[in-house]
Amino acid sequence: MCGIVGYTGPRRASDVLVGGLARLEYRGYDSAGVACLSDGGITVTRRVGRLDNLRRAITETPVAGGVGIGHTRWATHGRPSEENAHPHADCSGSIAVVHNGIIENYLELREELAANGHVLRSETDTETVAHLVESYYEGDLAVAVSRAVRRLEGSYALGVVHTDHPDTIVAARKDSPLIIGAGEGENVVASDIPAVLEYTREVVVLHDGEIAVVTRDGIAVHDAELNVVEPEMMHVEWDL
Ligand code: GLU
Repeated sequence: MCGIVGYTGPRRASDVLVGGLARLEYRGYDSAGVACLSDGGITVTRRVGRLDNLRRAITETPVAGGVGIGHTRWATHGRPSEENAHPHADCSGSIAVVHNGIIENYLELREELAANGHVLRSETDTETVAHLVESYYEGDLAVAVSRAVRRLEGSYALGVVHTDHPDTIVAARKDSPLIIGAGEGENVVASDIPAVLEYTREVVVLHDGEIAVVTRDGIAVHDAELNVVEPEMMHVEWDL
C-alpha cells in the first residue's frame, strides 16, 4: 500500500501534496515524489526514503504551481530508487503519472512501446502508463487516459497531468482506492479521505472503471466509455 494525492486550486500544490502524503503515511512507502505544473512545464521532485527527504528537497528548491500530483511508493516492480520513484514521465516530458497498484501485462506493454520508439527510463510497471497515454494523446487527455487504461491488466489508481492542460488532473481507478475531495475553488484527489479533510468534507467516491476530469472549479466523472455519469457524493462526518 502507498498513496496518491492530486491538487488543483489557488494554493501552492507542492505544499498540499506533501501534507496530504503525510496523512497517508500509515499506508507505508519507500520513496515519494511530486510533479507540479507551472509556466508551461512540469517540475518533478523525487526522493528515496522518508517523506521528510522530499519535504526538505522542496524547501531547498521550491516548486511553483497550483496543480500537481504526488505519490508515496511501495515498490512492486523495480527497486526503491529515485529513478523508479513516481511521478513517471513520457518521452516528451509533457505528461506525468502517479500510480498505485500493479500492471500485470507491463512486460508486453514495455516491449510494444520500445518497438514503437519509446524510451523507458525506469524499471517500473507504472512508466508504461505514461508512454501509453503519450501514444494515444491527440489533444484530449481524458480520451488518451481512457484508451490507455483499456490496455492495462491489473490494478490501478492513477493521477495524470499534461502540460497542454495546466489546470487539470485526470484520475482513473480499478481495484485500487481513489476519492476526490470537492472543495470551494479547489479539488483534491487522494487514495483516502484523511488527505482531503483539511480542505473539504464533501467527497466523490470514484468507482472501478470510472475516469474523472478534475479542475479547480469542477469534477466531471465518466464511465470507461467516457459517458458522463452522476458522481456518488459522500459527506464525511468524522474528524482526523
Ligand atoms: N507498481 C508500481 C511500482 O512499483 C506502484 C507501486 C505502488 O502502488 O506504490 O512503482
